[in-house]
Amino acid sequence: MTTTAVSTPIIPKRSGRAGPLKLLFRNQLAAFGLIMLLLILLLVLITPWLPLPDPDATALSKRLLPIFSEGHWLGTDQLGRDMLSRILWGTRVSLAVGITATLVAASIGSLIGLLAGYFGGYLDGTLMRGIDMLMAFPYILLALAIVAVLGPGLMNALYAIAIVNIPFFARNVRGVVVTLRNREFVDAARLSGKGDVRILVSEILPNVMPVIVITMSTTVGWMILETAGLSFLGLGAQPPQADLGSILGEGRRLIINAPHVATIPGLVIFILVMSINLLGDGVRDALDPRLKAGALHRPAARTKAMPEAKAAVVGQQKGLLEVRALRTEFHVGHEIHQAVNSPSFHIEPGECLGIIGESGSGKSVTAMSLLGLVASPPGVIMAGQVIYKNENLAGVSDERLRQLRGGELAYIFQDPLSTLHPLFTVGDQLVEAMRAHQRLSYRDAWQKAVQLLEQVRIPNAKERAKVYPHQLSGGMRQRVSIAMALANEPQLIIADEPTTALDVTVQAQILRLLNQLRREQNASLMFITHDFGVVAEMCDRVAVMYAGELVEIGPVKELLENPAHPYTRRLIACVPDVTKVQPQLTEIPGLPPQVNNLPVGCKFADRCDQVTDRCRQAPVELEALTDERQARCIFAREVL
Ligand code: ADP
Ligand code: MG
Repeated sequence: MTTTAVSTPIIPKRSGRAGPLKLLFRNQLAAFGLIMLLLILLLVLITPWLPLPDPDATALSKRLLPIFSEGHWLGTDQLGRDMLSRILWGTRVSLAVGITATLVAASIGSLIGLLAGYFGGYLDGTLMRGIDMLMAFPYILLALAIVAVLGPGLMNALYAIAIVNIPFFARNVRGVVVTLRNREFVDAARLSGKGDVRILVSEILPNVMPVIVITMSTTVGWMILETAGLSFLGLGAQPPQADLGSILGEGRRLIINAPHVATIPGLVIFILVMSINLLGDGVRDALDPRLKAGALHRPAARTKAMPEAKAAVVGQQKGLLEVRALRTEFHVGHEIHQAVNSPSFHIEPGECLGIIGESGSGKSVTAMSLLGLVASPPGVIMAGQVIYKNENLAGVSDERLRQLRGGELAYIFQDPLSTLHPLFTVGDQLVEAMRAHQRLSYRDAWQKAVQLLEQVRIPNAKERAKVYPHQLSGGMRQRVSIAMALANEPQLIIADEPTTALDVTVQAQILRLLNQLRREQNASLMFITHDFGVVAEMCDRVAVMYAGELVEIGPVKELLENPAHPYTRRLIACVPDVTKVQPQLTEIPGLPPQVNNLPVGCKFADRCDQVTDRCRQAPVELEALTDERQARCIFAREVL
């Protein structure tokens, strides 16, 4: 690594994911639930040592004292028993029963789920049909029936509640185990000679643990409520033993004369269950990061754009498509990632514009912003304009955008396997792409699909149209995506690293093909790559991006012969020259800055070998060097 004048880099803020505990505390409701629950737990744990009267000691002379009476803060009940003492002891019982029932249900249910999911077949069928039978009965009725059979009593209520909750655990766990069972790491464990029991304990169980914990945290509140319900009906705790439910049940008859006897246990049940549920939701969110990050939200149909970015077009548009100072950001929590920072460029009809830069420099986000394809949330187009046919694409109607996408403006994605639908034949997918934009009968569209496949040089296209994507090689699949992009005679094809997933010979074929097709159809091409070799072969002009900014733009030949920006020079130097006996690979020292923590001055300063103090003081503007060339470096003129 060359170490020329690389001055102290700005130490980036640590922005990794916080640990589960930190996440939990970031959720204020969950933190509130946790604190409440801890307070309640502390109180009931120290209850035996508190100077409280015996909860069962009756004193008929002190019946139904109101709250705040002397010696009885919460008053007394119909037998003169101290309410505070009864509530604290009752909460102990309720919590103990609720938590024990949860543990019992979780252990038995998870075991059933593990066995059914892992072994499958006959065992799965038998166990899960049993679970289905349990679930077929209305929940609370089943608990009532069980208690009716076993007889009233706290332990029997516990069994009943545990039994009716077993299906939740069994089903959740089985679902996860079924998907884990055939994963490679389980196969590897099996091949290494581990037995079923060891695989279940050491490979599968740790992976389903989060599911079990989440299910427990979200059901324990319910179980406490259900136990209270049974006791309220007189089927749970039997006098003199009392839990919150039975205290509430006894107070029910006095609700007019002495409302405190019923309201206090009711309030405690409410607070207890609410804190447990708030905490449970927090635990679930902390353990399942997708919920918090919004990954389960469906992204909007187009990228969110601020009013500023939707403004009408002023003045004449340049070329076929013009981008003016486009700014796209990702708003993740409180952090702002400036992924695309005001690049301006245009594409002439029939031209190939290359966009080049290291991974993470904002190429894909720029390209996706053009058609509103950046996922929102978290993506937002803050400012700038994307102008096509004198319309600002961020401001057009959804209908118009849908017409343009895949029609006049086509997109080829990097990974052809993930963009093709696995369950449709490639012919059908081409037909669908065409019929979305053109009035064509299925038969005509199919014929055209076969023609398109021939056009992208797929041998035996007639037969190949009937196969599924997984039956084709990577190169073939990418040809299919190119055919799909061509299906509606596009004016502009945006190709985002379309050959990165392919090997060198296939890559060369695809590139040649893309160039030929572009000439045949006179379409423009916006070609994104990280490889200057490819740019030299394909493009007329090239735009170099770094940390979301355009740092240099100009005709390929001039730019390659005489690069004006130090970053461009270093990128060119990275292309191996195989004609030399020992090709020297010169990497660029350091890493690009993080887009949520960008430096003030030149973004490339930390990695530049010509950096001066002036570079870091103020933002460096893009400067026109000739009619066609621009660069963002204060020394650019001196270099040319
Ligand atoms: P590339 O030039 O390799 O195509 P991208 O355009 O994909 O780079 O990414 C540009 C920047 O945007 C990167 O720094 C990346 O970390 C950031 N980025 C991309 N997608 C997201 C996202 N969903 N949330 C936050 N940041 C993102
Ligand atoms: Mg990319």
